[in-house]
Amino acid sequence: MDNTRYKIALVDDNIATLNQGKSLLQELYRVYTVQSPVTFFENLEHDIPDLILLDVAMPEMDGFDVIKKLKADARYRDIPVMFLTAKSDEESEREGFRLGAVDYITKPFSGPLLQKRISNQILYKRVEAAVKDYSDDLEVMVSEITRANERTRILLDKTPLCARLWDSNRKLIDCNEAAASLFGFKDKQECLERYAELYPEYQSDGQRSDEKVIKCLDKAFNEGSYTLEWTYKMLDGTLMPAEIILVRVEYGDGYAVAGYTRDLREHYKMMERMLEDEERMHLMLDAMPMACRLVGRNYEFIDCNQQALDLVGVTSKEEYEKKLNDIIPEFQPCGRLSHELKMEHLDAAFDKGYLRFEWTYKKPDGESLPCEVTMVRVMYKGEHVIAGYIRDLREQKAVAEEMRRAEIAEESSKAKSRFLANMSHEMRTPLNVVVGLTSLMLEENNLALNLKENLNKISTAGSTLLGLINDVLDISKIEANKLELAQVKYEVPSLINDIINLNVIRIAEKPITFQLDINEDIFYRLYGDDLRVKQIINNLLSNAFKYTQKGTVSLGIKTEHSGQSVWMEIIVSDTGVGIRREDLEKIFTDYGQVDAQSNRRVEGTGLGLAITKRLVEMMGGEISVESEFGKDSVFRVRIQQGFVDNTPIGQAVAENLRKFRYTEDKLTVSKKLVREDLSFAKVLLVDDMQTNLDVAAGLLGKYKMRVDCVLSGEEAVEQMRRSETGGQQLYNAIFMDHMMPGMDGIETAKAIRNLGTEYARKIPIIALTANAIAGTEDMFYANDFQGFIPKPINTMHLDSVIRKWIKKKEE
Ligand code: ADP
Repeated sequence: MDNTRYKIALVDDNIATLNQGKSLLQELYRVYTVQSPVTFFENLEHDIPDLILLDVAMPEMDGFDVIKKLKADARYRDIPVMFLTAKSDEESEREGFRLGAVDYITKPFSGPLLQKRISNQILYKRVEAAVKDYSDDLEVMVSEITRANERTRILLDKTPLCARLWDSNRKLIDCNEAAASLFGFKDKQECLERYAELYPEYQSDGQRSDEKVIKCLDKAFNEGSYTLEWTYKMLDGTLMPAEIILVRVEYGDGYAVAGYTRDLREHYKMMERMLEDEERMHLMLDAMPMACRLVGRNYEFIDCNQQALDLVGVTSKEEYEKKLNDIIPEFQPCGRLSHELKMEHLDAAFDKGYLRFEWTYKKPDGESLPCEVTMVRVMYKGEHVIAGYIRDLREQKAVAEEMRRAEIAEESSKAKSRFLANMSHEMRTPLNVVVGLTSLMLEENNLALNLKENLNKISTAGSTLLGLINDVLDISKIEANKLELAQVKYEVPSLINDIINLNVIRIAEKPITFQLDINEDIFYRLYGDDLRVKQIINNLLSNAFKYTQKGTVSLGIKTEHSGQSVWMEIIVSDTGVGIRREDLEKIFTDYGQVDAQSNRRVEGTGLGLAITKRLVEMMGGEISVESEFGKDSVFRVRIQQGFVDNTPIGQAVAENLRKFRYTEDKLTVSKKLVREDLSFAKVLLVDDMQTNLDVAAGLLGKYKMRVDCVLSGEEAVEQMRRSETGGQQLYNAIFMDHMMPGMDGIETAKAIRNLGTEYARKIPIIALTANAIAGTEDMFYANDFQGFIPKPINTMHLDSVIRKWIKKKEE
């Protein structure tokens, strides 16, 4: 055994002992000797021996004091001290041991004994050192293990992941705190004891829970690890979906399986929410009235909505992708290749972030589909993609086209109206001459009979032609929605009077009795379009007279108050030819002249009732007919009118009107007009056509008036000025044509009014015009005219205007 590394200090005041000891021990140990305890302690500061041999009796400090000092110092306390002393008394020996010496050897001593006892001490020290080393390591090891265990426990218990351990018998042997808290147990112990309660009888895949657990553990033991889905039945009865990872671990001499559970409830909820969100988004997208789709950076299709599928005419997105190109025509309307242009658009959209353009698709059935495409760059899964929205422009284009057509139609209807106005003027002018001159000639006495007959025929033909022109004008106005109802106050008695006046002459030579059926409670003053009301009644009455050869024609009028308005009921009946049942519906349609055979002698256009029906409808009313063919016809009309007040016409007026029927019989009507002698008067007649001037001058001349004729507006103004300044007789009235080259009638009237004198401002100006489109009458009144006489001139009408406006001035 090599002890040389052990160092022994020998402290003795006796140099001989020191030498003897040194020689005995130095071969075995490193020995240093020191005579003085003081020096010894100095040396100890830097040189600690493994064993101290110490004398007791020393002059400076005895051995007992030295040992005491050593034991009192922690640095030296553990150095073994052996006394080597001449003091051999038992008490000193005991004292030495008491003070902590490991041995007590008395002098003189034998060398081998000293050696042996020292080597024992050294051995002992070595053993002690070895034991100490060993126990130190053990302690470290044990504490390491403990700490490692602690760490593991903390890690395991504090981890939020629920963990359990099964031994090789598939018995649950441990779990962590997370497991206890996840399942709602108060601690791990309870968790281990009641763990089986968490098994529902069956798992969602239909397996029994207790069987599945074993199977899964087996799998983990065999394969090292196994992941499965599991459903727990929580203590409150709710189910908890979970994911479990089973891992085989070394345990004791064999293996165990650790299971880690992840609660999927939140995850499932989130998934559900996400699914809901996605479903909502899809719903919204699919319900969007626009096709939309996503395209990736490499122009690849990503997704689309239902509308996009419909656009292509497919049902699935896979098909959409395949057939998308089928609905893109080779060329766009601009002439560019669709494919090229599409790439350009996509690149531009990726580049700028936004692009809108028109695009034309070709539907599977070949129909061309104009669209507006809006491309927006969006982020999808961290990359730029293009969301494209496609709006069908067909409807918009159709509307635009419709508007364009409507404009054209409107334009052409205006043109038609203008044309008709012009035509009517052009036709009325020669007709004016025909009718005017005929009636002038008919008034001549001593006419040869055949001449008179012919003139009568010309007159009738002229009137028919005039009616025809009026009807055509009306119906075309109605068709163009141009006919507007005026709203004016009118008096019902005068309306009835005018109607009778106009119609009784239609009786002519026929044996017909006319009856007027009214009573005194009819409203006196109404509000509406009296001219159109007259037109309605005149149309019905004229038909009644036209289609009746003998018997009775009657007109009944009633009014009935209803809220803010009045219902006027008009009944026109006759004992004429009647209408076939199958024709009753047709007679109200345009050109609905029925029974052409039996009516061939009766003139008509078939427009009268169509116009009547439309007018009635415009007045919020209705028209109906009852008829027995060959026997009679009854037309009933109801129209709505406004009323001024609820004064009735009264007994006297009703009586007068009824009387009129008897007094103004056909004989009196056919009697010649009795014209007043107006020889005191002078009138100015303005017309651009000489024949018109001839007719009008002829008719006016019958009143013995002086008639000055001029052929233009300009001349008329001049003539007016001259009449006043030239000291001539002043005019009593001006009869003025409307349409003339140069200044027209209205401009001329204005110029006359502007002459500035009282005379020029007050003189009555009467329009004489062939422009008889409805509404023109009002226009003249609005332009400072006092009267209106449509051409051809009706002598009765002319007479009433003359009576009204040409009177002898009271001096
Ligand atoms: P028309 O100008 O031909 O009289 P209407 O529109 O006024 O045109 O009438 C249409 C058709 O209805 C007439 O052609 C005629 O056959 C029939 N009709 C109208 N009123 C009577 C009536 N009072 N009696 C018999 N037939 C009538």
